[in-house]
Order: sequence, then structure tokens, then C-alpha cells
Amino acid sequence: MRANPWETAQTQLQKAAQALSLDPLLLARLSQPDRIVEVSLPLKMDDGSVRVFSGFRVQHNNIRGPYKGGTRYHPDVDMDEVKALSFWMTMKNALVDVPFGGGKGGIAVNPKELSEGELERLTREFTRRLAPVIGPELDVPAPDVNTNGKIMDWIRDEYEKTVGHPALSVVTGKPLGAGGSEGRTEATGLGGSFALDEILRLRGVSGKGKTVAIQGFGNVGSYLARYLQKSGYKVVALSDSKSAIFSGKGFNDIDALEVFKKEHGSFAGYPAAKAIRNDEILTLPVDIVVPAALENALTADIAKGVKASVVLEMANGPTTPEAEEILRANNVTVIPDILANSGGVAVSYFEWFQNRRDERWTKAEVFKKLEKKMRAASDAVFRTARERGVTLRDAAYVVAIERLASE
Ligand code: NAD
Repeated sequence: MRANPWETAQTQLQKAAQALSLDPLLLARLSQPDRIVEVSLPLKMDDGSVRVFSGFRVQHNNIRGPYKGGTRYHPDVDMDEVKALSFWMTMKNALVDVPFGGGKGGIAVNPKELSEGELERLTREFTRRLAPVIGPELDVPAPDVNTNGKIMDWIRDEYEKTVGHPALSVVTGKPLGAGGSEGRTEATGLGGSFALDEILRLRGVSGKGKTVAIQGFGNVGSYLARYLQKSGYKVVALSDSKSAIFSGKGFNDIDALEVFKKEHGSFAGYPAAKAIRNDEILTLPVDIVVPAALENALTADIAKGVKASVVLEMANGPTTPEAEEILRANNVTVIPDILANSGGVAVSYFEWFQNRRDERWTKAEVFKKLEKKMRAASDAVFRTARERGVTLRDAAYVVAIERLASE
């Protein structure tokens, strides 16, 4: 049975609350979202028929600033998933120290089954329904699984039409030239490489030559693969929803893999690589495994077979609580999602900031600021874990909740 991500999030919160003797009022506030919105989205399809989709936006907490978090288009999106994702955004934003609270949204839809026109009409309908509760200082959506800059630009445009004034910073993750920031596309993957590098450095370990297997080759997985490969790690296995491949020598040309996947729809048949089973990717004999697809990828069964010494959680909520216990007992270090993938929202904050000040930073400036934020958050988590004798995940929650408590 699929673990319920909202229950996973609650377990994580309760553990941290106990470690901190958390004020009961703050615990009560973090235990439930501030506001949940569910909307019905009737859509006229290209063939004239009508389908009705469900859309969600959850505003978990705004103690530290406007609600902020992505928008996911996926058939499995439901209220509990969006609630969990919004909770993780509250924690992540506090941890990476940006002045935002946590929010998340999504539509239960398979966007691959829609034409571009249908997708645009659905997005615009969703935006009109959400217009009263989002805004540059209220709640700022961004891309997540199966959404992108083009979709963010539709949301911005429809929001401005609905409220009747310009509002460039109502969303982040916009295309360059339409208010987007340099470096936003690469940010989550690059940020993850900084977090991994910093945690290894603090342990006195070098990443050079370490072997890596990455599950998921979307925005996050593909950029992470590129940056790890450039920094001297050996990316030996990759997967997407349809295929998985292995190369003992390591993949040196990630761009070529991207082109191949675009042309063929999957990695199947990629030259000089061995096809492996999709469900083998996280149990390969490598140094580091990276779930970078969806939540609940690392179940108890899979955790028992993990041979790597480090799990870098680039997806949100990829490890179930049972799996976490097994990994801990086996001395596997988990670099938690709220740290590892926080580079995306850090650069979203830079985008929002630039929009509001009418500034344009170069990619080099963005990457430098991102590196500083990721290393600072990683240092705080590592230090707290050492001081308290807890896992990196528990330490990440402690750092985040202490910041929320000090507001
Ligand atoms: P995406 O839609 O660009 O890519 C998702 C990838 O996962 C695709 O390659 C897909 O084929 C693959 N996938 C799906 N099911 C799979 C399976 N069973 N096995 C292997 N691969 C599978 O999404 P993304 O933006 O890369 O997001 C990936 C994860 O990272 C999500 O959990 C998301 O919430 C999280 N995240 C994304 C960002 C961001 O900036 N995009 C920021 C923080 C966290």
C-alpha cells in the first residue's frame, strides 16, 4: 500500500517536536495547514466533450512570509499529498532561510494526455479560481512535477487579467525574458550538488570518483547528474519512469543522454550502457543513491537492499518512515529533502526579489548566492546533528523549527 505522505510528514514533525520540547501552540499550528482550497475545474476538450478536474492549493504556514511552493500536474495528486508537500515547504524555506512560508498546489491530471490548448485552458481556469488567495505578498506558486516556465507565464498572465494590474512576482520559475531569473532551471540540481559536497566535506570525505545512481531524469535529476559529473563524481546509473541504464565507466556526456531521451522517449537502447530493471536503481552497489522522482520511492523493502552509504533525497518525501528506520539501523546517511532540494526555492526567492527591485542578476551571481545559502544550511544541519546526536533529518527539522519559533 502507498504510504500516505501527510502521515509521513506528521511523524517527522512529532519526532522533531519531542526533541525540542516544542511550544504546544506552535506544534498545533504546524500540525495543520492554515488554509486548504479545493476547486473544481470543468474543461472543454478539443473534441467538444467536457471533463472535470480537481485542483488543490494548500497554504500551510506564513509565520516567516508569504506562502510559497510549487504546482504539480499528476494523476496521483490528492489533498493529503499537497498538504504534505506544503508542510515540507514551510520547513524547507525556514531551513534555507528565505522569508517565505509554505504552500503547494496541484491538479489531478495527466498533462501528457492533454493538447497544449487544453493544458493552457485548464491552467487559466485554475488561476481564476485561485486568484483571491494567491498574490506576490500572499502566496507565490512555482513549477513542480510536470509544470514549467510556460505554465507559470500563463498563471502570471491570467492572474494579472483577473486582478487588473501587473503582478510579475505572483509566480516564480518564469521563463527568462518573462521575468524569470538566470539559474532557476538549474537551481535544484545544482543546490543538491552543493549540499552533498558540503556534508561530505564536513565529514572529511572527497566526492571525487564516488559512484552515483539517480532515479528520475527530469529537471532535478538531469541537472544534478550534470553538476555531479562536472565535480568529479561518477554517475553510473540513471532511470526515468520507463527505463533504467547502467555504465560501469560512468556517463560523461549528460547532454547526449538528454538528447537521446528526447528523441526516443526513454533511455532504452542508449549505446554503451546496460539496460537494468527500473526497481534496481536504488539498490545498486554504488556510493550514493539519489531518489529524484516522486515520493515513497524508498520503501522498507527497498531500504533493506540499499548498499550505498549515502541517500541524497532530491525528490520530496521519497523515504517512508519504516524505510528511514532501516537505513538508520544500517548506518546509511540520509541527506534530507528539505535540505537537499531547497536550492530551487532559494533561487525562486532570488527571482521574486529581483522582480520586486527591478534587478537582473547574472547567472554567476545567482550561483554564488545559491552556493552560500546551501553551504550555510548544510553546515547548520551537520552541526546540529553532531551536537544533539541525531540524524541529519531530525537536525534539519530542529534548525527549521527553531527559526519558526523565533519569529
Ligand atoms: P519532472 O517532472 O521534471 O521529472 C520527474 C522525473 O521522474 C521524470 O524523468 C520521470 O520520468 C521520472 N519518474 C517518474 N516516476 C518514476 C519512476 N517510478 N522511476 C524512475 N523515474 C520516474 O520533475 P522534477 O521537477 O524533476 O521533480 C522531481 C522531484 O523533485 C519531485 O519530487 C519534486 O517535488 C522535487 N522537487 C523539484 C523541484 C524543482 O525545482 N523542480 C524543487 C524541489 C523539489
